[in-house]
Amino acid sequence: MTYDGRDRSAFWPEKLLVREESLADPLAKRLMSKLEGHAEISILSEKGDPLAADTAGDSSDAERFTKGKRTLLLQRHSGSWLKACPGTSGHVCCNLWIVNPGEGCPFDCTYCYLQSYLKRNPTLKLYTNIQEMLSEIETRASAEPNRMFRVGTGELIDSLVWDDLSEQTLELVPFFARIPNVLLELKSKDDYVENLLTLRNEHLGKTVVSWSVNAKSVTEKDERSTASLEQRIAAAEKVVEAGYRVGFHFDPLVHFEGWEDEYRDTVQSIFSRIPAERVAWVSISTLRYRSDLQDMMLARFPESKIPFGEQFLAKDRKIRYVQPLRFRMLHFVRDELMAIRKELPVYMCMESSSAWRQITGGAPVAGSELSEVFSRKGKLPIIEEGHHL
Ligand code: SF4
Repeated sequence: MTYDGRDRSAFWPEKLLVREESLADPLAKRLMSKLEGHAEISILSEKGDPLAADTAGDSSDAERFTKGKRTLLLQRHSGSWLKACPGTSGHVCCNLWIVNPGEGCPFDCTYCYLQSYLKRNPTLKLYTNIQEMLSEIETRASAEPNRMFRVGTGELIDSLVWDDLSEQTLELVPFFARIPNVLLELKSKDDYVENLLTLRNEHLGKTVVSWSVNAKSVTEKDERSTASLEQRIAAAEKVVEAGYRVGFHFDPLVHFEGWEDEYRDTVQSIFSRIPAERVAWVSISTLRYRSDLQDMMLARFPESKIPFGEQFLAKDRKIRYVQPLRFRMLHFVRDELMAIRKELPVYMCMESSSAWRQITGGAPVAGSELSEVFSRKGKLPIIEEGHHL
């Protein structure tokens, strides 16, 4: 299936596994029907991840992870769905809530933390009981009506990558429009927005569609199978035209020869087409990763330059750039963004309060343009003319 010149079936699964318990769920039926003739479909009765470290023979973590990218398992999720973003100790937290409608991603970014986080259970998964996820969000939000819940679905999965097959946004977006104190953030490196465009009169300003963006050469070399920077911006332009607000995450900022020019170009490319006042937030974060991810990167992407350079093991057990370089990069990109519009809500994700002090003059304060991101109570999103809560 081609969408805007991009062959989406190139990253559709080659194998679709469906647990017996999910067979009657509408999501499973939809995927089985759409993937018929494309993927080998099997019903699974036994529990566990079919590519789990202890059941998949003596293949290496890297081999199993690569294999997992081509296999999608449909199953029900058990346990709770909604959790506060764990953040990092000693770092300023942006109060995002997280739900995971699945886990794993068919795209293949060199630096993707899922390579270490999911390495023991690498099969891609989609949960077929997301009605239960929505009920849990509704119960929690109505128990605290004065609190604003900004909920993201893009922590363990790309929020749009399966949407042509799953059509999940057709359920999520109207649901979030109906509950007064929740706001949905979809986060993606994909450009499939067709379902979102059909909801132009139903989203009521309660969904922010955000894209992870990077320097063009990083996207080309280290974000395999994703939409190009140009395609992401074109998708953002379409959803803005449909009344959505958008977000951009400069994550991870990567250091390389000529990084200033390329990040400046990315900022300029975005804001030459997206009106700054339609941007709900922009985050900036430098490269960081757990030390075991380095082994996966070296095994899976031996040609990548990402694991090299002025990096060290920080207190939070993550490898980061040395502080002067990190601050220089954050400063530079923030300045480029603030030059576009000084009220642009730009925040630093996973950064210490000393970084906030040095780069922005202090932690975010109530009443600033960052209130929507950082306040526990939050504020209601700006509603477009013609849209009503
Ligand atoms: S798009 Fe995101 S989730 Fe998918 S491989 Fe890249 S970093 Fe990982």
